[in-house]
Amino acid sequence: NFAERSEEQVSGAKVIAQALKTQDVEYIFGIVGIPVTEIAIAAQQLGIKYIGMRNEQAACYAASAIGYLTSRPGVCLVVSGPGLIHALGGMANANMNCWPLLVIGGSSERNQETMGAFQEFPQVEACRLYTKFSARPSSIEAIPFVIEKAVRSSIYGRPGACYVDIPADFVNLQVNVNSIKYMERCMSPPISMAETSAVCTAASVIRNAKQPLLIIGKGAAYAHAEESIKKLVEQYKLPFLPTPMGKGVVPDNHPYCVGAARSRALQFADVIVLFGARLNWILHFGLPPRYQPDVKFIQKPSFVHGHPDMELLSKWRSNRAMFLELFSKCGSLGQAHQHHLRNLLEMHISGPYARPIKIKNSEVDSYSLWFIKPRIYQVDICAEELGNNVKPAVTLLGNIHAVTKQLLEELDKTPWQYPPESKWWKTLREKMKSNEAASKELASKKSLPMNYYTVFYHVQEQLPRDCFVVSEGANTMDIGRTVLQNYLPRHRLDAGTFGTMGVGLGFAIAAAVVAKDRSPGQWIICVEGDSAFGFSGMEVETICRYNLPIILLVVNNNGIYQGFDTDTWKEMLKFQDATAVVPPMCLLPNSHYEQVMTAFGGKGYFVQTPEELQKSLRQSLADTTKPSLINIMIEPQATRKAQDFHWLTRSNM
Ligand code: ADP
Ligand code: MG
Repeated sequence: NFAERSEEQVSGAKVIAQALKTQDVEYIFGIVGIPVTEIAIAAQQLGIKYIGMRNEQAACYAASAIGYLTSRPGVCLVVSGPGLIHALGGMANANMNCWPLLVIGGSSERNQETMGAFQEFPQVEACRLYTKFSARPSSIEAIPFVIEKAVRSSIYGRPGACYVDIPADFVNLQVNVNSIKYMERCMSPPISMAETSAVCTAASVIRNAKQPLLIIGKGAAYAHAEESIKKLVEQYKLPFLPTPMGKGVVPDNHPYCVGAARSRALQFADVIVLFGARLNWILHFGLPPRYQPDVKFIQKPSFVHGHPDMELLSKWRSNRAMFLELFSKCGSLGQAHQHHLRNLLEMHISGPYARPIKIKNSEVDSYSLWFIKPRIYQVDICAEELGNNVKPAVTLLGNIHAVTKQLLEELDKTPWQYPPESKWWKTLREKMKSNEAASKELASKKSLPMNYYTVFYHVQEQLPRDCFVVSEGANTMDIGRTVLQNYLPRHRLDAGTFGTMGVGLGFAIAAAVVAKDRSPGQWIICVEGDSAFGFSGMEVETICRYNLPIILLVVNNNGIYQGFDTDTWKEMLKFQDATAVVPPMCLLPNSHYEQVMTAFGGKGYFVQTPEELQKSLRQSLADTTKPSLINIMIEPQATRKAQDFHWLTRSNM
């Protein structure tokens, strides 16, 4: 047999590249250097796209976004020691977001281990905390096996980050080609479905809900569940609320989207179905005060030996009107008592589960309160997630798309739809109207410098419907999210579960390379706060080097949260050293970030008025030959619109 007798040699670098190619890896992001340069070259020779970045952290963010957008892991290739350490931020972010990612790190030579080798670091151990799987192949022959396992682990079950360590001496080591066996491409994850009885219960509770709410998370986007979820929403006329990256699974402008009444919807829903969204800080843990628990007022006589009369209670429990009436009574109590009641709410039900309490209050003395949380239904692929923070009424463990189809099948058995004329819809619609009006009013303000709302309304007017929106920053991201619309799934990328600043440019670069390959002509609009932009600003060179279809909008308020205008700044520095007086939130006023873009041949605009903003955005969108950066000066002290509740002002959600 000729093949067996072949003397042909192959390098470790080529084996790695071939193993990645066999696993369908399409994109590698990284920074080359000793000992990984040869790996990048070998990968490119096999047709894998290599995007060289300026910092491993941004490279790792980019690779992780590939995982979210394509369902197969992107690779981040880094050098040993500090290179790998820079990538940890990206790994942590991917793992927190439940996005697949494969990091390949060069490491010091095996025969110098523990001797203080160049960039020596315990990399496999270091990565364990940030990954689902972290390993070093024991030989070159083992590389294809370990890479297949890493790719598989990154996409099976709850997606996440994986790490493969490559000692420097592997890279140029030559082995006989025939000694290497490549694993087959690992298949897409098997589809799991929920228990039939759980599906039946879920369907019946949705049917009986008085104030239902579907919450669509980025897990639903990742699961490509858009078709089934849209059908569920439309067929049964159910209100839905997307999480930040759940936006676009069903378009934001859909008549059943209640995003503009977010707080109201969360607060009063009695049945909540979560599709791929965790009850973490983004959803306020599923706990009061952001979720109004079922508050039942019970008259004193209904207490038997200090315990509520269960029979009467169940009558009251089912009487939503009673609750509303009594809550409105609280409304007439005046500020102090309302505050008192709210505190009680917060105090007594912020634990893991609701419990009954009695309220002694002069004006509501004849009542006691009974708290019952809204019934929450979780649809998730990760069993360990079910029951976090709130005891779910039903758990549907499985792939979201498949489970939603099961639900549809069950609901289809009996004709039904949620009444469009219900009080709940009326409440939500009214709240949406007033919230939208309040934002529009702020947007129409003619004063200069502009406020956030003015900026985002003008941007929204021109945004192409199919563009990707990448965003990070504090107010920039939060306010931007409420105004900028998503019409397509997986077209919004932001600071995410980990609230990471610095992800924007890496995400935009990843979206751009994917868009170029799969849907040419799409723009990536990257909306950055001036502070957020600073974290990975040098990636503008990467954007220009590959000439990517990205428009960067830097919403510039001269600082973190807030900044100062030039005059105040000058005044402040008159007599003292800057480090003694400049508030920690301040950045240099009137910084010309657009020049970062022009430095590399892209187009830069410095804008101060709505007209300049409109014009520069129009020009940027019209010129498909170059990326642009529009530096938008806003009022340094601009904030969010007034919020209904005190806790809304302090939370950044
Ligand atoms: P969000 O930030 O939008 O609230 P999270 O990241 O908190 O979303 O939640 C996403 C959830 O989706 C995770 O708990 C994850 O386990 C789950 N998930 C991811 N992929 C799938 C899938 N294919 N089917 C079901 N659940 C999934
Ligand atoms: Mg800022």
